[in-house]
Amino acid sequence: MSPVGREWRREPLYHLDPELNGLLRSELIRQQETLELIASENFASRAVLEATGSVLTNKYAEGLPGARYYGGCDIVDQVEQLAIDRCKAVFGAEHVNVQPHSGSSANLAALFALLDPGDTLMGMELTHGGHLTHGLDINYSGRTYDVVRYHVHRVTETIDYDEVRELALTRRPKLIICGYSSYPRIVDWAAFRAIADECGALLLADIAHIAGLIAAGVHPNPVPYCDVVTSTTHKTLTGPRAGLIMCRQEHARAIDRAVFPGMQGGPLMHVIAAKAVCLKIAQSEEFHRLQRQIVVNCLALAETLAAGGVRLVSGGTDVHLALLDLRSTGLNGLQCQDLLESVGITANRNVVPFEAGKFNVASGLRVGSPAVTTRGFMEPEMRHTGELILRAIAARDDAVALAEIRREVLDLLDRFPLYEFL
Ligand SMILES: *Cc1c(COP(=O)(O)O)cnc(C)c1O
Repeated sequence: MSPVGREWRREPLYHLDPELNGLLRSELIRQQETLELIASENFASRAVLEATGSVLTNKYAEGLPGARYYGGCDIVDQVEQLAIDRCKAVFGAEHVNVQPHSGSSANLAALFALLDPGDTLMGMELTHGGHLTHGLDINYSGRTYDVVRYHVHRVTETIDYDEVRELALTRRPKLIICGYSSYPRIVDWAAFRAIADECGALLLADIAHIAGLIAAGVHPNPVPYCDVVTSTTHKTLTGPRAGLIMCRQEHARAIDRAVFPGMQGGPLMHVIAAKAVCLKIAQSEEFHRLQRQIVVNCLALAETLAAGGVRLVSGGTDVHLALLDLRSTGLNGLQCQDLLESVGITANRNVVPFEAGKFNVASGLRVGSPAVTTRGFMEPEMRHTGELILRAIAARDDAVALAEIRREVLDLLDRFPLYEFL
């Protein structure tokens, strides 16, 4: 008789669980055959996938490097320290915690560290570009704190810094959050710091979307201006699906204790290893070139769409995403998202600031260039993509034309192989 558990432990996934393995294959093919414009998505590198799939998934390491509640942590201590040191090098942070499981966990831990229930928190209105964790009423953040919401300006559709200042001085928030999910312009961190200083607030920047751009110097870095900076690692940073927190030394203990034992148990050491990998890549010249191209590519796509009659919220884009106002096209956000999905292009509907429409339908579409740029697209392919979107909108009821567009999408993607080693 063989030892218990020995046989199945060695079996490859395709053999052990063909049903699940089939789903993984299908998802790989979907990613290969889809033109990915979801602004928050990207394609992790082979090395990031390897680290995420490593034996580090087996290790319990509650605590911090050098101060764990479990034995056998020498090696994972070195892994986590590598991730911390690389993060400090990339962003110039004084203190880093790489344990948050996601961007939302990072934000909630930061709020838990800096605020008491009932304290006043100021964040941007979700429908103007903010995130759930910046004080939405049905989120933990909105349920726990007294939330003041600021907006973009009705005319310019860019952050209304005058309103931010006025609200801050009258409502005296303990913490102001800047950094967004669907804001296409550069954020003026110094302006936020000045307002925070004037009203005696702490300042938190959430760079979930733009961390890669910041690492490459394509967007200004908030770290010198902020008490705390939170991020994801899977968006422009091109790492594993996870989060991290950077802060000034004075908040180090509060942040670390809020993450563990405040909100989390054991850290995901395999994911932390993958964060170390992406933070190594983030220091390379190739990564900086990729991030510069992401911005150039987004502009090429946005300009093509604008030339085709689609209005850009705020009139343009400085970053990796653009927000399209579809009201001139006769389609709402949901219809446009479904139409594009039928030709193999994925993007997500998004409300337009001040719109009256329903949140779930929405009048806008958010498009982003990180994933296709990682895949190899340059400006000609972005302009081609813009033309394909315009043609799909125009041919919305013409099944033959839509089928032809789907074929063109596949031809375009064929020239940029993805994960051919898998
Ligand atoms: C994506 C995002 C997050 C949350 O990240 P998750 O990993 O999905 O929890 C937080 N803040 C902002 C601004 C984001 O765009």
